[in-house]
Amino acid sequence: MLKATAAAGVTAFVGQTRGQDSTPASAGAAAPAAGPAPAASKPLEKFTPVVGMQIGALPLAKEDLDRLLETLRERGGINTLFVFAYGHVARWVPMAQQGFRGGNFAIPHMQYYKDTHFTYEDMRAPEFADVDILERTMKATRKHGFKTYALIEEADKEAVVPAWQELYEIDSHGRKQAAQPGGPCSNNPLYRGFTQGLAEDYLRSYGVDGFMWSSERQGGMTSAMGAWHHGGGSDPTKGTCFCEHCLKKAAALNIDAGRAKEGFAKLERFIRDGRARQRPRDGYFVSFFRLLLAYPELLQWESLWVNSRTQFMTDLRNRVKSVNPDTPVGFHVWHNASFSPFYRAEIDFTGMAKNADFIKPVLYNVSAGERMTSFVNSVGRTIFGDIPQPEILQMLYAMFDYKELPFEKVGAAGFSTDYIAREVQRTLDDIGPAKVPVYAGLDIDIPGAGAKYTPESVKQSVMAAFNSGARGVIFARNYAEMKPANLGGVRAALDELGLS
Ligand SMILES: [Zn+2]
Repeated sequence: MLKATAAAGVTAFVGQTRGQDSTPASAGAAAPAAGPAPAASKPLEKFTPVVGMQIGALPLAKEDLDRLLETLRERGGINTLFVFAYGHVARWVPMAQQGFRGGNFAIPHMQYYKDTHFTYEDMRAPEFADVDILERTMKATRKHGFKTYALIEEADKEAVVPAWQELYEIDSHGRKQAAQPGGPCSNNPLYRGFTQGLAEDYLRSYGVDGFMWSSERQGGMTSAMGAWHHGGGSDPTKGTCFCEHCLKKAAALNIDAGRAKEGFAKLERFIRDGRARQRPRDGYFVSFFRLLLAYPELLQWESLWVNSRTQFMTDLRNRVKSVNPDTPVGFHVWHNASFSPFYRAEIDFTGMAKNADFIKPVLYNVSAGERMTSFVNSVGRTIFGDIPQPEILQMLYAMFDYKELPFEKVGAAGFSTDYIAREVQRTLDDIGPAKVPVYAGLDIDIPGAGAKYTPESVKQSVMAAFNSGARGVIFARNYAEMKPANLGGVRAALDELGLS
């Protein structure tokens, strides 16, 4: 059973129909877009897809799990849970952030945390008294034939527990950055020890079926630029990481940290002036590129960050494989890869596939419109500040090969399902001969999405993902946010595709 998911994902790739039909199988259900007309759906080769649900500790601690799992299967065809079993962010539980502490919602087995300074009290979440949510969940999922994956999420908020302070990044001004765009440092041995220990604990103590690691962050330069959705109001002085471990690594690579800091200071001014609409004499983009020519250390620092994260992911997977080589480890890829050409360049699926058992690109089409316009609004005042925002959007569409609605419409309408199809195909093309399966991350009822979710929009997104070659779908962000009726769209799609 442990092997079944990964093995099905790999062997079923041979001879599949992906790529034969260049027109996406469905387009424009969630939002009527300018994409190509829907093509007739071809029958899919029969396989057992991963139909995953991201779910937090509250329902797993409190609800009747027999009933919950039966409902998820009946209504949504769900067969795999992705459990937020550890976390400092209340919205994934979900609970109110005020007074929330969080931590491990399972029982920490301290023999796996020898490479950290955490005590049992530092780690154990107090929210559900003596309930061990993983024990409770595994018992129920085994009984009902579900798989259980641990979703290890890098928190975007500061932990209340003081012991976490030592894990956080340091910005170019020497200040700790615990929350987005900062966070724990990939080069910090305590953070590496904690994450790997957590995975080993969940695997040895509970026998979880797999892991998905998620980090929604990028390097210090792109963070300082505010180059992410909703990044327009971000503080440009928070470029990271200059902690002792990163400085040591940089020195070994002959990267000049002093020059990098100078570059960050110049970049901060550029971003601030842009947002204040003070146009540089030679224009925004030229001035930005001139800054890179003067301070190539900015790019070196970005590259150092990206490579350190890749190493972190490789080492995490290797730790899991050292315990059980058959346990799949995959990676959630931040939605920013759909908006920012800079972050898109940082996500190399060809390289990632060499160290992954599955890849989950976030392809939340309904919320993508609002998020994309917020990205344009951020870079439209700085690096692309010479170009009207509707034209920046068209430029990004051209860069990414998207066929979506214009600026004034896309925020309220969302992206079409053609976007899902294109991105699944692009991911598979980049993965290439590694044949790592793609599980499309799909959105249901994300608050503030801009566009509306309906059972039909959910159905069409699932159809688009499978018809373009995905071997699984994972629903996000969190089960607790979703309306039961909209989950019904999943079942309808699976039935129509013959994948039930
Ligand atoms: Zn660091």
